[in-house]
Amino acid sequence: MYLSKLFIPLLKETPSEAKIKSHQLMLRTGMIKQSSTGIYSWLPLGFKIMKKIEKIVREEQNHIGAQELLMPTIQSANIWKESGRYDDYGEEMLRIKDRQGREMLYGPTNEELITEIFRASVKSYKSLPQLLYHIQWKFRDELRPRFGVMRCKEFFMKDAYSFDVNDVEAGKSYNKMFFAYLKTFKRLGLTAIPMRAETGPIGGDLSHEFVILAETGESKIYSDKRIFDTDISKYTGDDDSINELRKKYGEFYSVTDEKFNKEDFEKKVKKENQLVTKGIEVGHIFYFGDKYSKPLKCAVDLQDGKKVYVKMGSYGIGVSRLVAAIIEAKFINNVMKWPNSVTPYEVAIIPSLQKNDKSNYTKAEKAYNFLKKNNIDVIFDDTDEHLSAKFKKFDLIGIPYQIILGSKSTHDKFEFKEVNGKTESLTLEEIKNKLTNIKN
Ligand code: ATP
Ligand code: MG
Repeated sequence: MYLSKLFIPLLKETPSEAKIKSHQLMLRTGMIKQSSTGIYSWLPLGFKIMKKIEKIVREEQNHIGAQELLMPTIQSANIWKESGRYDDYGEEMLRIKDRQGREMLYGPTNEELITEIFRASVKSYKSLPQLLYHIQWKFRDELRPRFGVMRCKEFFMKDAYSFDVNDVEAGKSYNKMFFAYLKTFKRLGLTAIPMRAETGPIGGDLSHEFVILAETGESKIYSDKRIFDTDISKYTGDDDSINELRKKYGEFYSVTDEKFNKEDFEKKVKKENQLVTKGIEVGHIFYFGDKYSKPLKCAVDLQDGKKVYVKMGSYGIGVSRLVAAIIEAKFINNVMKWPNSVTPYEVAIIPSLQKNDKSNYTKAEKAYNFLKKNNIDVIFDDTDEHLSAKFKKFDLIGIPYQIILGSKSTHDKFEFKEVNGKTESLTLEEIKNKLTNIKN
């Protein structure tokens, strides 16, 4: 892509309404545009990044055997009346009427709808377990939408639902998701810590919020900092190994404020290991048994002829919030560096261009065509801005690798720079090999 052709409305100044760095960066680099309070359009750069995140989320869901479907954004109020949540959900729910006066709503989540789909066709224990998910827009009329896409009204979420015959089997589904989440966040370049969360009346320990550290996060967290050293690559992902891993995490105190107990914290965590900071919730997994299947009468026949309400769990990931969360984690000292897995372009060609000397342009364009031919997704800054202005711009756009054509470049060598890393002098062939290796 030629930068001059990319629809990327860069802003010179930081918009005053943006209070945290992810929101500032997203506006400045034209990733999003607010359309009304808490509602955003995703512009090409931001959308491309979100799609890459979505793809990784999808791959890890598919990997554990979850099946993708797509439910609508608009739901009928009837099923919510059946579950009893139509009244409970309160003002966060956007309620609408169609022309016949039927009560509808814009889905804030999908437990009811998936249960309705499930009960209509699945009648026997033989069809279980099932894991179903979709990646779809949600709407919550948040009381205080803020921080851009971090807490907005319309957001993109992956939500999965598990169906099992009993608690033991449901625990296995839960474990699969637990592990898939850790792998997903790791691929996104994030260290997300699973923290025990409220389970409500069901009790047990099957509710975790996945939190990444960030000063600007909305959740206060208290933890033993050794929990961050947990290395998931040692675990295979079968049920026993995930139980081991959960035990390992369980050795370290780590909770958000809703579960915080000062006495406990001070007793269990030595002073030097205590970490009190803030975090961003990027995912939440939750087992709730027959909380919805019972009122919605979603039951299956067991082998002995008895009927049982299916045991369900739900598993959310904030796909659009993750775009902002990655920025909060990776935008350091005013320099952004996207993780290789989600970067909008793999490399940027940044030449110094003179009006009366076309040689750098020709060389840059040759490099551009060569890399494109070799399946490298490259952006070419063909604008006539001064090199220092280009660097400033790319500090924000955050492409992790740069090919610089300035005074130091020679006939067949290019300055190849990793952002926040070293600069080497390489031939095009060497650059191609390097970038191909990084991709794989
Ligand atoms: P929060 O405590 O942040 O309001 P929640 O408990 O309401 O989150 P869930 O219903 O579990 O969230 O939704 C799953 C995921 O969707 C969350 O972990 C979060 O990443 C994302 N999410 C929830 N609400 C919003 C929002 N208003 N804007 C953007 N993302 C959101
Ligand atoms: Mg909420």
